[in-house]
Amino acid sequence: MPTPSSFAIAGAGLAGSLLAWRLLETANRPIRVTLFEKGDLSQPRSAAYTAAAMISPLSEVVVSERAIYDMGMHSLQLWPKWLSTLNQHSAKPVLYNNQGSLVVAHPSDESELEQFAQDLRYHLGDSNTAQWLNRNELTTYEPDLNPHFNRGLLLPDEAFLDNRQLLHNLHQRIIALGGSIQDNTSITFTPEPQREGRPLAGYDCTIDARGTGAKQSQAVRGVRGEVLWVQTPEVTLKHAVRLMHPRYKLYIVPKPNNSFIVGATEIESQDSSPVSVQSMMELCSALYTLNPAFAEARIIELDANLRPSYMDNMPAITWHKSGNSVSINGLYRHGYLLAPHLIENLLGQLS
Ligand SMILES: Cc1cc2nc3c(=O)[nH]c(=O)nc-3n(C[C@H](O)[C@H](O)[C@H](O)COP(=O)(O)OP(=O)(O)OC[C@H]3O[C@@H](n4cnc5c(N)ncnc54)[C@H](O)[C@@H]3O)c2cc1C
Repeated sequence: MPTPSSFAIAGAGLAGSLLAWRLLETANRPIRVTLFEKGDLSQPRSAAYTAAAMISPLSEVVVSERAIYDMGMHSLQLWPKWLSTLNQHSAKPVLYNNQGSLVVAHPSDESELEQFAQDLRYHLGDSNTAQWLNRNELTTYEPDLNPHFNRGLLLPDEAFLDNRQLLHNLHQRIIALGGSIQDNTSITFTPEPQREGRPLAGYDCTIDARGTGAKQSQAVRGVRGEVLWVQTPEVTLKHAVRLMHPRYKLYIVPKPNNSFIVGATEIESQDSSPVSVQSMMELCSALYTLNPAFAEARIIELDANLRPSYMDNMPAITWHKSGNSVSINGLYRHGYLLAPHLIENLLGQLS
């Protein structure tokens, strides 16, 4: 394929929006980019919008392939540079916190924490940067955590960002750079790209970034995740915190306006119906044990969504036979962890 100069991208979630922006921001020749989104952007339904947006290569290496860690460490280098560029042009910058995450366990579950630390040593060897914190150090790092935690692990090479602001700023910047976004517009691949049953003409290259929306034409499945948003001025957290527990592993990530996103569940199900009572009870009770002041927090949102995943839970960039269309999918629970690495890789193939 000659170097393309016009791009149609299907899906304005994480992969599609980041790709559209990077194409426009880094172009050294005139290009045309249109981002098509099936849903209404005023009511986003992408996994990218639901996500907690942790960038956590260490936490993931114990349950994933080593390649996920390597790609994640590369993304961890790219995010601050990319956000610095994006923030220069945005009315409200995207919050990016790279102070690391904390992992704790209640005294009765400390074997879970020890096992996690051993797994990290096993998978990372000399690259393991995790540090043990004693009770006093833990209190210094995170004064609002329940003081009954005897110790914790600091994972310095981890970050999180404000994903909803990111998506908003990306879409604004795409338009400012001359790109166009058409929401309420579904693109199908049969395998040629079609819009409302007609061939999508006029583009040199079409990119399928539909996440679980691609499951009719690709072997993509959805893996359900449920999250709870709470808001309280009574608790301040500076880090993403993970709570090790024999049955479920909870994470809590601070978000703007005294709010927090809390999640735990990963369910092998394509069901994107609302959060179950059991999940909510587990999330709330675990949250309460991190700091009893969460009892007075207000539940401001409950959300469930599907993570787009291939059978091996690895991401893939796949060129279609026609040679001028390509899919990027399978980001699973690693979209924020892996997207910059994958987008940079795809940009290299498109230039
Ligand atoms: C509860 C939860 C928590 C998560 N937490 C994290 C985390 O902490 N860290 C992390 O790295 N990852 C996390 N993830 C995973 C991350 O959100 C996904 O990996 C990522 O969003 C996948 O990006 P994507 O662009 O492939 O899909 P999406 O973000 O889902 O975007 C796909 C877009 O395509 C659109 N679309 C679908 N069909 C069509 C069509 N026919 N035509 C046009 N558009 C279409 C959809 O409406 C959607 O907007 C989490 C996911 C969930 C559900």
